[in-house]
Amino acid sequence: MNLNQGVSGRPPYDDNNIFAKILRGEIPSRKVYEDEFALAFHDINPQAPHHVLVIPKGRYVAFADFAATAPDAEITGFIRAVGHVARMLGFEESGYRLLANMGPDSHQEVPHLHVHLFAGRPLGPMLAT
Ligand code: AMP
Repeated sequence: MNLNQGVSGRPPYDDNNIFAKILRGEIPSRKVYEDEFALAFHDINPQAPHHVLVIPKGRYVAFADFAATAPDAEITGFIRAVGHVARMLGFEESGYRLLANMGPDSHQEVPHLHVHLFAGRPLGPMLAT
């Protein structure tokens, strides 16, 4: 399987990406949580019984530029939101997996940082071979 098909994961940020449009309310999403720093919504193509995406509200292409350039308050707010969503949805009892793709080898498709939150069944090995 060739995984080298995703976006670069590097700036510049594209304001026309699909998650930017969701943040602006231009296309719908099935929202599960929102605060000052983050929005969480159901993935349109779930890979587990529960598959939620959590995105920061700021303009970050991937984890790399978020970690390097986001103000401390945005990083704290976003990470706390991810934890809050997992707890709020009841995932802590059975456990869950977080995943964030960055760049071509990860096959990142959407160039706005997002954390996948998977839960609802045993999730198998860490990586598909
Ligand atoms: P990634 O490969 O990490 O960039 O993941 C992108 C994810 O976004 C995939 O799991 C898609 O199913 C999901 N996705 C794409 N468009 C939408 C949308 N409009 N609403 C919700 N999830 C979406």
